[in-house]
Amino acid sequence: MTASSQPFPGLHPDSLAVHAGRDDLGELGVHAPPLDLSSTYPLPDVDAGGASYEAMAGGGPPVPEGGHVYQRLWNPTVARFEEALARLEHAESAVAFASGMAALSATVLALTTGSGRRHVVAVRPLYGGSDHLLATGLLGTEVTFCSAHEVAGAVRPDTAMVLAETPANPTLDLVDIAALVRDSGTVPVVVDGTFATPVLQNPLDHGAAMVLHSATKYLGGHGDVVGGVVACSEEHAAGLRRVRAVTGGLLHPLGAYLLHRGLATLPVRVRAQQAGALAVVEAAVDHPAVARVHSPALDTTGVVARQMHGPGAMLALELHGGLAAASGFIAALRLFTHAVSLGGVDSLVQHPAALTHRPVEAGARPGDGIVRLSVGLEHPGDLVADVRQALDAVLLRAREPAVSAS
Ligand SMILES: *Cc1c(COP(=O)(O)O)cnc(C)c1O
Repeated sequence: MTASSQPFPGLHPDSLAVHAGRDDLGELGVHAPPLDLSSTYPLPDVDAGGASYEAMAGGGPPVPEGGHVYQRLWNPTVARFEEALARLEHAESAVAFASGMAALSATVLALTTGSGRRHVVAVRPLYGGSDHLLATGLLGTEVTFCSAHEVAGAVRPDTAMVLAETPANPTLDLVDIAALVRDSGTVPVVVDGTFATPVLQNPLDHGAAMVLHSATKYLGGHGDVVGGVVACSEEHAAGLRRVRAVTGGLLHPLGAYLLHRGLATLPVRVRAQQAGALAVVEAAVDHPAVARVHSPALDTTGVVARQMHGPGAMLALELHGGLAAASGFIAALRLFTHAVSLGGVDSLVQHPAALTHRPVEAGARPGDGIVRLSVGLEHPGDLVADVRQALDAVLLRAREPAVSAS
C-alpha cells in the first residue's frame, strides 16, 4: 500500500495506534477485530487454491479468489496486527513471528540464503540470545562483533546485514542510526527497536532497512504473549514471509489478536512508564550505593534528541559491590518482580550477567554489579520508594561485615 492509499492518512501516531488494522470493522459490522483460528481453509477449486498457494510460497499475499489455504501461509488476524505495526513504523509491510528470536532468525536467513553473502556485522551490546545466535553460527553465518564506530571497517563484500540494538539490552547503549546507515554503505541495516517501541523511535525514517521488535515486551505489554515482528519494505517482507512459510516460526493468531490489542494502549503505556523510569533515574543518580545509572535520559551525545521522542522506561543500575550488592538489591525490592523479560505493565528486575546475557562470551558480558530494571505502570512515588529502600538495604549490608569483624 502506498502512503496516500492507506486509510486515515495524516493521523497522529496515538490515533493510528487505536485505529490501524481496524478500518474495515464498520463494514464487517463488528467492533472488535475478528479472531480467525483456522488451521486450514476450504479451497474454491484446484486452480484458484493452487494459484493462492503459489502466490504465498513466493512471499506475497493470497490471491483473493483462492483463499488463505493454510495458517502457516497466511492468517487474517496476524495480517491485521502486521498492517497496524507497519503503519506505526512508517513501513510498507511487517511480518510477524512466533518470538523475537524467530523474527531475528528469519531476518538472518532471508538476507543470507541465496545472496552469496554469509557475513554479519553485529554491534555489541545485543540481547544475549541474539549475541548467542550469531556467535554460534547456527544459521550458517560468520559474525564480526564490533562497536558502532568500528562498523565501516568491519563491512566486507560478503556482508549480508548490519545488526544493532538501540537503546541496547541491557546497558541502554545508544547507536546513531543515521551514522550507522552511512557507515554500512549498501549493506542493509537491521535495528532491534524493542526497547524504544515505534512510539519513541522509527529506525526506517533514519535509513534502516528493517526494524525488529520482540513483541513479547512492550507491544504486548501485559506479560502474556510471546511474539516478534519485523517492519520493512514489501520486497524484504516477501523474503521474510517465504522463510516463515518454510521454517514455520509463525505467530499464533491468538497472540496476534492480543498484540494488536496491545498496540492501542502502547503510546499511553510507554509515556506513563517513561515518567516512572525518569523518577527512578533521578532517585538513583545520587544514591551512594550506585556507581552508575545507565539511562537514555542521561544521554549527552544528542542521539536521543536526534532519533527518539523520549528516553523510554528501561534502565540499568551499576552498584558498588558487584554480585553481592546486585543480588541483595534484587532480594530487597518489593514492587519489582525478579524475572526476565520487560516492557509490561508491572515492574521487573533481573541480573543480566546471570540470566539474559549468560550465553555472551565473558569479555563482552555485562558486569556483575549491573541490574536491569523495566519500569511498569505503578505510581512513580511507589517505585521510587521501593528502589530507595532496596538501595539503602544494600548500603546497610555492605557496612555490616566491617562491624561484625571488629
Ligand atoms: C527479548 C528480546 C529479544 C528476543 O525476543 P523473544 O521474544 O524473547 O524471542 C530480542 N531482542 C531484544 C532487545 C530483547 O529484549
